Amino acid sequence: MTGAPGFLTDFLSFSLADARPVADRAGGECAHGVRFQWLGPGLLQFEPEAKPVASVVVSAGVHGDETAPIELVSRMVADIARGALPLACRLLVVLGNIEAMRAARRYLDDDLNRLFCGAHARLHGGSEKARAATLEAATARFFAQAAPADAAPRWHIDMHTAIRASVFEQFALLPHTGRALPSAMLDWLSHARIAAILLHTAAGTTYTQFTAQTHGAIACTLELGKVRPFGQNDLSHFDAADRAVRALVANLAPESAAPMPRVFTVVDQITKRTDAFELALASDVPNFTVLAKGQVLARDGEYRYIVTRDDERIVFPNPSVKPGLRAGLIVVETTAETLARTPRGS
Ligand code: ZN
Repeated sequence: MTGAPGFLTDFLSFSLADARPVADRAGGECAHGVRFQWLGPGLLQFEPEAKPVASVVVSAGVHGDETAPIELVSRMVADIARGALPLACRLLVVLGNIEAMRAARRYLDDDLNRLFCGAHARLHGGSEKARAATLEAATARFFAQAAPADAAPRWHIDMHTAIRASVFEQFALLPHTGRALPSAMLDWLSHARIAAILLHTAAGTTYTQFTAQTHGAIACTLELGKVRPFGQNDLSHFDAADRAVRALVANLAPESAAPMPRVFTVVDQITKRTDAFELALASDVPNFTVLAKGQVLARDGEYRYIVTRDDERIVFPNPSVKPGLRAGLIVVETTAETLARTPRGS
């Protein structure tokens, strides 16, 4: 071949430039007989030469200003193209909100990561409505061409960085599917050196909720640290997660045993009802901060949220959301014992 096309050597710049492949070069073969196909802006599919052991979606930039994972994904694409990273899985690479990436913003009109599972259909317009539908369709096509989930596993790793600091700097959010927490995911997260896992107890409208619920994927949203502009990320900080994603797509055994993450479960949600809503926390309080029992955490007219357990922690506090939306999650640690005993799915 005459050198890999630009979208493989620098997928990030190509996508930011809103470039299109030359007519007959949208698809082809790169190193090790891996077939590639550019499917549209920010969407790239790879198929290994040998029978794939799994179908994997790796996404980044669902929030446009969460740059480090986007850079990691772009480097991974280049390494697959030149043969530095062997591929054992079918792989769909997704750069989520490209317009927001260009504007260095989380989103332009609506948070893309609240628009999946058909939620985009309820919007009347805005930049993210069409993008959510496009990503759902591309993901659905990718899994429609995959082996059944019980024959070859389906995975989705959606990489983010958090707005605020966290007691556990890198953590994972698992969507609520009604199925037990997959042990393969627990193992993978430990090898990615993820310190904490947060189990959702209600279905949301995130990208990983969509792939887990609709397509049977083992899915997680990774929060890998704080947001910085393109080029200002210390990518070494993301090494463990990057290596784990690469090991997953290459089907390589993890290098060494790693400690299991601590597991937390959402026990309550604080919803902002009116503009009178007040949250009794400093604006920069880290995620997973332990709350004082008895504290009046939130007030909104007659409504009060009072901390009643010893070990409640706050995640994603945000009093400036629109009324009707989530202003914070209350989580408690789940012991291995309760995890084994609790029938999930109710
Ligand atoms: Zn994000």
